[in-house]
Amino acid sequence: MAGPILVDAHMHLVEERETGRVRKQTYEIWEYGEKTDVKYSKYDGVVEDAVDAMDKAGFSKAVVVNLFGSGSTSFERGPELAEELKAFNRWGCDTVAPHDGMVPYVNTDPHILSGEEMSTHIRDMVENHGARGVKLHPVLQRFEMGDPRMTPTYQTCLELGIPVLSHSGPQREGRPFGTPKAYAPLLENFPDLTLVIAHLGGGAWTETLEIARAYPHAYFDCCEIMEWLGGSNAPTYEQFGRLIKDIGPERVVMGSDFPWYDLDRSVEIVMGLPHLAEEEKEAMLGANAIRIMGL
Ligand SMILES: [Zn+2]
Repeated sequence: MAGPILVDAHMHLVEERETGRVRKQTYEIWEYGEKTDVKYSKYDGVVEDAVDAMDKAGFSKAVVVNLFGSGSTSFERGPELAEELKAFNRWGCDTVAPHDGMVPYVNTDPHILSGEEMSTHIRDMVENHGARGVKLHPVLQRFEMGDPRMTPTYQTCLELGIPVLSHSGPQREGRPFGTPKAYAPLLENFPDLTLVIAHLGGGAWTETLEIARAYPHAYFDCCEIMEWLGGSNAPTYEQFGRLIKDIGPERVVMGSDFPWYDLDRSVEIVMGLPHLAEEEKEAMLGANAIRIMGL
């Protein structure tokens, strides 16, 4: 049976099983409040796991968005890590290269690379290693989206015609790193850059519609938050379906945030959302990502 094309717009890989296990145990997801029946994936997140999960769920493409140093939130950043970050990005690209349909994104960090280093590195990864986008996590990486040190990254993505996919959500001490409103300067200054704001705002989802309305060129992914629907600080199914309808479902792509959550379950949740037409949901499963992210 030929169903809609399935694309995971947001998944992660780990180097080794043990790394994946530890990361999943130690990465605390606090922003959605209390929810007791969150269904986590059984996978550790090595590339063989991802291939298996894609196969079983019938996915033809996946965007792999790894983050340097994401195993530790108390990560001390500094320029001495420049070579490690670059090697990590090369690992990400090399790991997915043999696997048809897997698309690697690379990470930059203004605390580690100078503007010029970011530009040169992104260009090298795209032109010589198959990278097709940049992943950022302003909350873990602790920078503001409008930080002038990030301009060379955005400028280079624009020149190369590749998207930026960036985590969104509140920061524990309330710093304005990754809330939807924190994206305004970037959306304002780089209107031609393809920006996918992950998690539809996460625990700061009540800000998302305002930003979506102010910036019709902003796109969103719905991973993680959709597994937490009904949580004490998360939208209900009802509110979530309504939010996507109001933003415009053609602007929203589906991700799994694998290996935290499962690909087949992501499809199930999207298809169960209220307020959206069948075709709108089917487009969220893959066609939107192909169009928006140029896959
Ligand atoms: Zn993620």
